[in-house]
Amino acid sequence: MPAPYTGGCLCGTIRYEFNAEPATVYTCHCTECQKVSASAFGISVRVMAEDFQITKGEPATFDTIADSGRVKTGLFCATCGTRFGGGVGGPVVVLRYGSLDDPNWFEPVAHIWTRSAQAWYPFNDGLPKFEKAPEDPAALNALWDAHVSGGN
Ligand SMILES: [Zn+2]
Ligand SMILES: [Zn+2]
Repeated sequence: MPAPYTGGCLCGTIRYEFNAEPATVYTCHCTECQKVSASAFGISVRVMAEDFQITKGEPATFDTIADSGRVKTGLFCATCGTRFGGGVGGPVVVLRYGSLDDPNWFEPVAHIWTRSAQAWYPFNDGLPKFEKAPEDPAALNALWDAHVSGGN
């Protein structure tokens, strides 16, 4: 399915869309993603900020400080609590996979922060794994580009 892609929170107060293909999609097993998702890992859909807009509602925000010292702003719905994304204010917005109207539009191309992954997680899908975040953030974009051009 071509762009635009749409998504939102559980209760429908917040709706968003983006008008281009994602830059990359990956699972993140960091401890913050575990907390934020209240699950074993997060799946992130990275889109360029210029392609993204909130089309309905006003998200609440929550700031955390990354290891790098950078402030990361999380976006959530104040009514139902769905944490649907973050990273506003920078060049990239990171959307939470499950907030897409149809997550099957995309599939992840790598696992990051595997050193804090749950011990039972099998990693049996053959995808590249990174112990932490890749040194070069573009590495995940390159894997995505290869995935898209490979047609699988
Ligand atoms: Zn909501
Ligand atoms: Zn994470």
